[in-house]
Amino acid sequence: MATYTYRCTPDGPVDAVFPIGTAPPTISCPHCGETSTRLFSAPMLGLADRGRMAVIDRAESSRTDPAVVSAPPPKPSRPAPRLDPRTRLLPRP
Ligand SMILES: [Zn+2]
Repeated sequence: MATYTYRCTPDGPVDAVFPIGTAPPTISCPHCGETSTRLFSAPMLGLADRGRMAVIDRAESSRTDPAVVSAPPPKPSRPAPRLDPRTRLLPRP
């Protein structure tokens, strides 16, 4: 969904929400019923933080296009860190 702005002569700018690409060129004003024409303005994409937008985009894409793997991840090249030898002295259940 996207917010589109229309201009009503008596009321000024009026926002309306439609699915992207389906906004009609005119709507009736929700306040007075007058015919309002669509305004074209720059999208507000540049106002968001790039890092946050990347996270949002990844979350959205994982919902619709999840990463599918065909094999488990490769084993790490380094061996697992050794446990502290004192952990053997801890009580066991
Ligand atoms: Zn109006």
